[in-house]
Amino acid sequence: MDLKDLNRLTENLEHTEKMPVLFVGHGSPMNALEDNQFSRAWREIGKTLTRPKAILCISAHWETKGTQITVNQQPPTIHDFGGFPRALFETQYPAPGSQWLAQATKETLKKTTVAFSDDWGLDHGCWSILKPMFPAADIPVVQLSLDYAKSAQDHYALAQELAPLREKGVLIVGSGNLVHNLRRVVIPSGAMSDFNQPFGLDWAIEANELFKKLIIENNHKSLINYKALGSAVQLAIPTPEHYLPALYVLALKEESETLTFFNDVPLAGSLTMTSLTIAG
Ligand code: ZN
Repeated sequence: MDLKDLNRLTENLEHTEKMPVLFVGHGSPMNALEDNQFSRAWREIGKTLTRPKAILCISAHWETKGTQITVNQQPPTIHDFGGFPRALFETQYPAPGSQWLAQATKETLKKTTVAFSDDWGLDHGCWSILKPMFPAADIPVVQLSLDYAKSAQDHYALAQELAPLREKGVLIVGSGNLVHNLRRVVIPSGAMSDFNQPFGLDWAIEANELFKKLIIENNHKSLINYKALGSAVQLAIPTPEHYLPALYVLALKEESETLTFFNDVPLAGSLTMTSLTIAG
């Protein structure tokens, strides 16, 4: 390690004011390019937040065997979707990585073995929201994967261990959708261009309202045991990857902290964009 690296490390270890934590419903990757109510809310957050030193993102779109973390110095922008306009495939989010944050996260997660990965980058769950939020792409970003072998309780416990990073200037962002069932998508007009028009099927609205109620009540136990929450929730969470990033964020909430919901909108019948900020 040369002196420059040592200085950088010392600077990064400085204690900071506790950073907020965000859960962001990401919805369509087109939100990265469109000026709409969702991307405008993300832009506003980017403008009002204390500038983070680095961002740790837990995206629904990176599931792995074991827990992995990106260590690429320059993570590639991954276009992990199909059927969208060329402009979206050409979109880049060239934020640097952060070996410091990868290392600090690995050290913070004492109960989990974390493997460094240089064969991922930033998937659309991560870059599609960060592009409007921090358009300069000059804040380092690291992704932490979702180990598909872990239970919801395991994910929640892992996330609790991330808490010290909040006082090192790290913005922790979970990106998914509380209600997300692509097999049940209904767009009343039938036009894909209306995907973002507010519309929720009864069960989607019921599940979303229940999630919000439990979140407000700090009833994390019920949110972890979501499989016992009834048929609307079963439809809302056919597979857990879009829901789990919300548990990561809730696991970091301290009793005294304030919750703020934003983008609380159902769309395409079977998704909700409901997002939240947790701050002291
Ligand atoms: Zn997604």
